[in-house]
Amino acid sequence: MKKHNFSAGPCILPQEVMMKASEAVLDFNGSGLSLIEISHRSKDFVAVMENARSLALDHLGLKGKGYQALFLQGGASMQFLMVAYNLLEKKAGYLNTGTWSNNAIKEAKLFGDVIEVASSKDKGYNYIPKGFSVPNDLDYLHITSNNTIYGTQMKSFPKGNMPLICDMSSDIFSRQLDFSQFDLIYAGAQKNMGPAGTTLVVVKEDILGKVTRKIPSILNYQLQIEKESMFNTPAVFPVYVSMLTLEWLQNLGGIAAIEKINNKKAQLLYSEIDLNPMFKGYAKKEDRSIMNATFNLTNDKLKEEFDSMCKEGGINGLNGHRSVGGYRASMYNALSLDSVGVLVDIMSELERKG
Ligand SMILES: *Cc1c(COP(=O)(O)O)cnc(C)c1O
Repeated sequence: MKKHNFSAGPCILPQEVMMKASEAVLDFNGSGLSLIEISHRSKDFVAVMENARSLALDHLGLKGKGYQALFLQGGASMQFLMVAYNLLEKKAGYLNTGTWSNNAIKEAKLFGDVIEVASSKDKGYNYIPKGFSVPNDLDYLHITSNNTIYGTQMKSFPKGNMPLICDMSSDIFSRQLDFSQFDLIYAGAQKNMGPAGTTLVVVKEDILGKVTRKIPSILNYQLQIEKESMFNTPAVFPVYVSMLTLEWLQNLGGIAAIEKINNKKAQLLYSEIDLNPMFKGYAKKEDRSIMNATFNLTNDKLKEEFDSMCKEGGINGLNGHRSVGGYRASMYNALSLDSVGVLVDIMSELERKG
């Protein structure tokens, strides 16, 4: 039975992308060779890298606006240090909205002064801090647009005179935003784009080249831009699958089209969470994520029963992150409205059974 995959990451990808990707592993472009056994400098693969970079900028509406897209390795976690390595001269500001922000802060502290402009730690990161002030002497301000673990999502973004850096790992390409308000966006592929192993970095070129420290080649954004994301052997398969997902999204009508579906999925699930007395949402309503919905049973004694009903219904990946417990339904772009419907039916069935 095909599962309804609510996994937080690595996560569900479109079925048609899976089909094309598996074909390319056997025979890439009718070449008689596998995608993963040819040179990354071959004409066919260079075209893949160029297409993937170009599609990423297209979707974000950042073409011709001074931005470059890179596909790097080391995950979003590598960006925690690469951002600071390349941009932190004296002092940077971080908005602390959860585990991933904390990890970013920890790495940045190796490179300079770091201040937390605000934090939602006091309430278990179940909300997004608002109304905080941002000092104007920062090298940059770093935020996390969607907090995968807690199920909170930023709906508006701080403005200031410093570059705005955003970890968009778990909601990139899911909703329309003015992406030009960000100077650097990064996202590990495995949440909404492709297999683990590559990370998309979209960077405005004019923020680079301002720190005085020497930067090792592989960690240097400027060098990666010069080498067109081919400084060393890129993660050919993850980049190829990411390209396919970006094409899939384009054929669907882009971010505008997928956003409508994502909103429907989130509305369906959150209204069940709110109306069904068996469940309680974790995140503050106004800050709820359309990608990751976190919730708990109001009566923990029903856990075994609910879990077995989910299992029977083919629901996969619903357990909350080990640090917060409860449940988390991740509704990334490739998850269908039908899958959310199946989950919601199981939740109301639990209520009927009492
Ligand atoms: C998953 C995730 C990360 C970590 O990504 P890796 O690619 O595993 O390093 C960082 N930030 C956010 C918001 C995430 O969801």
